[in-house]
Amino acid sequence: MRESLSAGRFCYVVELVASRLTREARLLEVASKLAQVPGVVAGSITSYAGGALGHDPVRVGTAARARGLTPNIHLTCVGRERAAAWKTLEDLHALGIENVLALTGDYPKAAGIKPPEELFDLDSVQLVHLINEARQRGMPFWISVAVSPFKYTEADCAYQYLKLEKKIAAGADCVITQLGYDSRKFRELKRYLDEKSIRVPVLGNVYVLGGKAAEKMSNGEPPGCWVAPELLEKIHTEIQVPDAGLAARLERAARMVAVLRGLGYAGAYLGGDHQADRVRWIIKRSEALAPRWEEFAEELNYAPKNSFYFVGSPTAPLKKRGVVPRFLDALGGMFPVNKDGELRKFLVSLFRWVDKKPVLSRGLERFEFAIKSPLFGCQTCGNCVLGQMEYVCPQTCPKNMRNGPCGGTKNGQCEVVDKPCIWTAVFERAKSANRLEGLKVYIPPPIRALKGTSSWVNYFLSRDSRPGNVTGGLILLGVPSPRANSGRGECGAAAEKLPAPDYEVPITKSDADRR
Ligand code: SF4
Repeated sequence: MRESLSAGRFCYVVELVASRLTREARLLEVASKLAQVPGVVAGSITSYAGGALGHDPVRVGTAARARGLTPNIHLTCVGRERAAAWKTLEDLHALGIENVLALTGDYPKAAGIKPPEELFDLDSVQLVHLINEARQRGMPFWISVAVSPFKYTEADCAYQYLKLEKKIAAGADCVITQLGYDSRKFRELKRYLDEKSIRVPVLGNVYVLGGKAAEKMSNGEPPGCWVAPELLEKIHTEIQVPDAGLAARLERAARMVAVLRGLGYAGAYLGGDHQADRVRWIIKRSEALAPRWEEFAEELNYAPKNSFYFVGSPTAPLKKRGVVPRFLDALGGMFPVNKDGELRKFLVSLFRWVDKKPVLSRGLERFEFAIKSPLFGCQTCGNCVLGQMEYVCPQTCPKNMRNGPCGGTKNGQCEVVDKPCIWTAVFERAKSANRLEGLKVYIPPPIRALKGTSSWVNYFLSRDSRPGNVTGGLILLGVPSPRANSGRGECGAAAEKLPAPDYEVPITKSDADRR
């Protein structure tokens, strides 16, 4: 992936869903055939797809590589503590696997609702930081990250892009989009990055959409995937023919690839159908269709009514910040305890003294909890970042995210519980206070050992993990850092024989030129 993308060649990554429903031997047979398809640079091996445990992606990836297909291993944060994530990175390095896709991961369906830190120790930005640390220790990973431009409220959409910037600053090399059928959104993402001079290759997701998958996605399953009623209706019509809609869906996929090329994407991420002959057909057909990409972009317009777009949509009016945030802002202005001075010196001495008295220190923790629990839903994590999150507690996010929402939000609603996504409030408060830039600050993972202790004491004694006092990552694993962390700143379908394309592949401008 690194070589092809660095050389500016338009390339293809094909998703291999390593779910329990697919026999591993079958997956590997597919991998052998995909390895023979020109333009396919990697097979992307899923992990925990749809929130269900599948085959071990490292094992499948290793076997796929032995069959000639470069693996891109999905590394999620689900049920994986940072030490386990590090161990997986070491294993991948030992196996000579470089390509990883760092993801938050779908909420595990079988888990029920658990305390967030039991399922998610890291979020995807923190995971990218960890992989970047591994890279600084000589493990040459090529890090891909995900983004969903297909968000149709201002807060959901803006936060996706904002979080993407954080991932790139943390060390991401390549971006892969969520699936969607709206060329305006594909265009919007590209434009957003271009305007900010962010030069990372972006692969657009092209999901070969069949009837069953379309049904599920139209109901928001899996979270983050969405199909418009108009597209679902079209697919229902398409599947009424003898090939059950195969030719129509492959044609749609080829047109989408042509659109992505036209928009300057670095490649396509093909999902929904991994059969080599079909992938080959899509590639050839898309090349033939390349000159007509603008016409297809017009057709690819499945979006909800009154959707938000960065360009052309009015932004929502500013919301009132509420009494508590305004009060706390004023308090912070009057007593700037985060700045060096007499007040801070006094508080440091006071909390140092309190810390030496176990009864007092426990009493203080209970007092802090009694104030913060009703106000913020505090769960005494001991590493308070309310100040960086507009007074919204990250522990109230079922996935324990500290750096922005996952990709599962839908119109401001959480994918896990029937509540608004906490990140909508963070965004709206920051926007009202003109502090959106502040949301780009990286928030490190909390030190779990501090759970149940007073975050006030931890803050003044500088032993917590927060922006400006980064003690996350390897230091927590007991691995000394050689240098500071620099960062830098499913669905099968009936197998029919496909007709050979009856057209010539036009040779126009090179992909690099186009980009
Ligand atoms: S201490 Fe932790 S759990 Fe409590 S409000 Fe602050 S961030 Fe939330």
